[in-house]
Amino acid sequence: PVERTPEIQLSRAKLPIFAEEQTIVEAIREHTVTVLCGETGSGKTTQVPQFLYEAGFATNGRVIGITEPRRVAAVSMADRVATEMSLSKDIVSYQIRYEGNATERTRILFMTDGVLLKELQRDIQLSRYSVIIIDEAHERSMYSDVLIGLLSRIAPMRARKGDPLKLIVMSATLRVEDFTQPRLFREPPMVMTVESRQFRVTIHFSRRTNDNYIAEAYKKVCQIHRQLPDGGILVFVAGQQEVNTLIDWLSHDFPLNPGSKAKETKPKRVKQRKSLQSAPAVDLNDYSADVNDDRGADLDEVGAGENLGLDDEMMEREDQQPVEPSRPLFCLPLYSMLPTSKQTRVFQRPPEGARLCVVATNVAETSITIPDVRYVVDTGKEKARLHDPVTGVSQFVVRWTSQASANQRAGRAGRVGPGDAYRLYSSAVFNDEFERFSEPEVLNKPVDELVLQMKAMNIVKVRNFPFPTPPDGDAIEAGERRLIKLDVLAMGVKGAAADAVEQAQARITALGRTVSLFPVAPKFGVVLALADQYELLPYAVCLVAALSVREPLVNVTSIRGCDADETKRLMVACLKQRRTWAAQGQSHQLGDLMVLLKAIGAAEFDGLTPAVCEQLGLHHKAVVEIRKLRKQLTDLINATCKLSRPLVLDAKMKPPTELQAKLLRQTTLAGLGDQVARRVDRTTTEEEIPKGAYQTLIMKEFVFIHPTSVLLKDQPDFVVYQQIVDVSGKKCMMTVSAIEPEWL
Ligand code: ADP
Ligand code: MG
Repeated sequence: PVERTPEIQLSRAKLPIFAEEQTIVEAIREHTVTVLCGETGSGKTTQVPQFLYEAGFATNGRVIGITEPRRVAAVSMADRVATEMSLSKDIVSYQIRYEGNATERTRILFMTDGVLLKELQRDIQLSRYSVIIIDEAHERSMYSDVLIGLLSRIAPMRARKGDPLKLIVMSATLRVEDFTQPRLFREPPMVMTVESRQFRVTIHFSRRTNDNYIAEAYKKVCQIHRQLPDGGILVFVAGQQEVNTLIDWLSHDFPLNPGSKAKETKPKRVKQRKSLQSAPAVDLNDYSADVNDDRGADLDEVGAGENLGLDDEMMEREDQQPVEPSRPLFCLPLYSMLPTSKQTRVFQRPPEGARLCVVATNVAETSITIPDVRYVVDTGKEKARLHDPVTGVSQFVVRWTSQASANQRAGRAGRVGPGDAYRLYSSAVFNDEFERFSEPEVLNKPVDELVLQMKAMNIVKVRNFPFPTPPDGDAIEAGERRLIKLDVLAMGVKGAAADAVEQAQARITALGRTVSLFPVAPKFGVVLALADQYELLPYAVCLVAALSVREPLVNVTSIRGCDADETKRLMVACLKQRRTWAAQGQSHQLGDLMVLLKAIGAAEFDGLTPAVCEQLGLHHKAVVEIRKLRKQLTDLINATCKLSRPLVLDAKMKPPTELQAKLLRQTTLAGLGDQVARRVDRTTTEEEIPKGAYQTLIMKEFVFIHPTSVLLKDQPDFVVYQQIVDVSGKKCMMTVSAIEPEWL
């Protein structure tokens, strides 16, 4: 029997889901798989585990498991359910990658989806569980999609064994066809909808869309607070740093105890803002190295890329009139990295006489319901990990969220009564530039990475995997073939031919396990994994970072002066600079990769300002990105690899020795074995082969060394290249290094 305080009982009774307890429990008893939809705040996450506990699903030592895509939700929901049930934390517990309070006695376990996937590798039957609830399934994270796929097989299997495991898929949206299709579940799942108790929300679009959305958000909050009646304000921004900036500004202008130094601190604040402005460019000290997350995509937990899209002027807000002494504003931040104790403050009442204002990332969209919100201010922005098909690299970007997400955000204003949502973008932008729904993560991920990660989870037959939304099967097979060539996957049967059947059996190798940890394309991961010798690692990290970012070097042909003469002069100067960077002697063979190493070193040495970068023929933004990625990779390697001594990031780095330069060419080749070309014009007597022609492994056409390459004159017999581009009808290889034929 569960004992609840009268206060808790009262608040439970107010939740829309409360009246449905009977129906929900019955549906779950009668069906192996149940899909449960309900508006955010209807009580799914906090109540369903309690219903099941009281219905006896946690008897005989069995556990009710709930997976969350975000760590913050796993921790705070475990805490809340324990409180509601007056049970101790070793009975209602949580487990996230490095932390948890689960015990033998745990009966309800909240965890991140990554944690359950790990457990599946140990016990594919999930025998200690009687129920698995996949929460927030609408977020379509890769791990929760994979879990649904796996459980679509495991749950019926357990049912056939007479030891049922119930699967419950919970979603905040009604768009659930992907979860109910016959390909996934032979017996159609029970779909239930909890009626929402949602009040009317009036949506106000902005007439114009101002790029400086942080300043806009600030203005809007000030306006609401000064002019509109009581009620909490919830602001959505893209990332943690934006949250903190807004909180700083607002709590300065509307202090909790007014009159306490608001005036005197003003000059200081301006100064602080100045230092904030320059921070994104150079200061990496506040980077949190927790990239080895149990879930790569819990975006606002990852420090890297935090400043992206946040240009310097974004941090500048327009001058406001001196602020009138006004009602205090109780400002609270909310993002995943925030310690739990601070997160739960959003559920407490604001101090007497103050208005609540929560500034949040999309954590507050569906995972956490903040009470008493009446006004929503939506910047329309979110942080996302995007894949660049050209460089094969994932990067964090700030972009428009989806229409579905924006509507979720607006809905947060209608929980306690009619509300207002202020969108800081125009209806035209919303209609034309917002995607309708967020894309499932598995479709956005580069296929090589997806396959490698699935194999790292010991899922061998990726093509046949029952994804809720499957990626293209042929693309998966092509990816597998590339990964086998890289030795990150290997055939189950030794010496077997590489036909499709055998590929389906390809398994991850020890090298592949290491590579799967790096947030770069597997081919670059291989370069890193092989570089822990002869002190190559710092160079490999720098090169991989440089190659993972779009165009660090300014394209010489795009340089323009004010007239033709100057243009020519600037182009020549740039090429000359690069030729000086390319070393003499043996090291010269490293070619354009040496140019990259030296150019980045030079930019770092001169202080990495936009002016310096332009002078050196580098794109400033790209070089800043490279620095961030180097830092991220360095931290990750230190945290996960057993090195003889820690890898230190020396941004300026002295040039590699001749031996190191040679070894760097070899390691590059190991990762990019299919990007090699052989010079053919000398090796044949046939007339029609043009001078300087090379033959690649991937195309019939001849290719040539790009005219801006420092190896143009050398014309080595064999080269490895990064990219092929079209130069007035001629296919040219860019970023070229020479390789020795005996290495092939
Ligand atoms: P759903 O999962 O359907 O979005 P939840 O179960 O998360 O809904 O939330 C139900 C209610 O419980 C909400 O009104 C929310 O504000 C409240 N709630 C959740 N956590 C806490 C907490 N730690 N303290 C007080 N109220 C909470
Ligand atoms: Mg929930």
